[in-house]
Amino acid sequence: MYDCLIVGAGLYGAVTARELTDAGKTVLVVERRPHIAGNIYTEAVEGIQVHRYGAHIFHTNNDAVWKYVNRFAEFNRFTNSPVANYKGELYSLPFNMYTFNRMWGVVTPREAEEKIREQRGEITGTPRNLEEQAISLVGRDIYEKLIKGYTEKQWGRPCDRLPAFIIRRLPVRLIFDNNYFNARHQGIPMGGYTALIARLLDGIEVRLNCDYLEHKEELDALAERVVYTGPIDAYYRFALGRLEYRSVRFETEVLEQANFQGNAVVNYTDAETPWTRIIEHKWFDPPAGEAAYTGKTVISREYSSEWKPGDEPYYPVNDERNTALYRQYAEMAAKDERVVMGGRLGNYRYYDMDQVIAEALEKAETLK
Ligand code: UDP
Repeated sequence: MYDCLIVGAGLYGAVTARELTDAGKTVLVVERRPHIAGNIYTEAVEGIQVHRYGAHIFHTNNDAVWKYVNRFAEFNRFTNSPVANYKGELYSLPFNMYTFNRMWGVVTPREAEEKIREQRGEITGTPRNLEEQAISLVGRDIYEKLIKGYTEKQWGRPCDRLPAFIIRRLPVRLIFDNNYFNARHQGIPMGGYTALIARLLDGIEVRLNCDYLEHKEELDALAERVVYTGPIDAYYRFALGRLEYRSVRFETEVLEQANFQGNAVVNYTDAETPWTRIIEHKWFDPPAGEAAYTGKTVISREYSSEWKPGDEPYYPVNDERNTALYRQYAEMAAKDERVVMGGRLGNYRYYDMDQVIAEALEKAETLK
């Protein structure tokens, strides 16, 4: 008998497993996929760590979390500064003086502010959705060229039907600063995220290719408590209906050239280009010096789609319907003393990695 069965060998599951093990508890981790690390899984192709399930850039303002991850990996000094490609025009992200200069030719912060003020005038009152929020933050021009197409491709829904908070993830700055994240700490684990998760799971029993929901009864019988990091609606066999998720698909190619786009992430923000972004993996953790500019490169085109059975769920769709339905599932889970729901899918939240770790550390305290 184990003290705890942990369903999912992603970041939440691995942190929980580490914490409980270090507290003297016995744990078993089961993972449906043939590998650990969930959606932060990386693997080497041509000596380059490829982010198989999309770009993951670690960033946090939480000193304790930063200290924690640094116990298990060494981080490089990567700073995310994505470029937006709108029909061949390149803009700096997030929205800052470089962006405003390119968009309007403005030179000073005062001129930029004036432009935004002029354009945001069409929104009166508190923004009720992503479209209104975006226009009120940066004005209509930027909304049309850099937000609308990208957001609608990513979410498959019109911007006026999406929650405002999604766009508030992006900072707006009246300084020349292309650092996408407002975070004190940022970087990519050298050697990849899979190695980080492997270190977290060091010495812990993990069963791969093991689908918990298919073998629920026999697995439940093995442990006192269960930490479940899969989709909460699937856990309850969709008793109250299905939550919606967005999925992403990657077309990955090895190219016989050293440098494809000169940046780790380029967003395609028009509505016509079918992919949302192209990742060039080598720039997340480039080989030192000239070596970066020789040999091959690996790129992934990212396509967003509505999740359907058989796909990997990536993003919760936090609109009104789903949020209300999630609350009902969460109430069921709160009454269920044996199980703890964790992570992006268990809590149906658009978590960043640092939030996942913080939550796992906090919850683990109650399980020790
Ligand atoms: N976004 C946008 N244009 C961009 C990048 C982001 O409008 O070029 C908005 C969009 O609404 C998106 C949100 O910001 O849903 C978060 O985007 P990000 O790419 O940071 O999300 P991730 O998939 O990396 O979590």
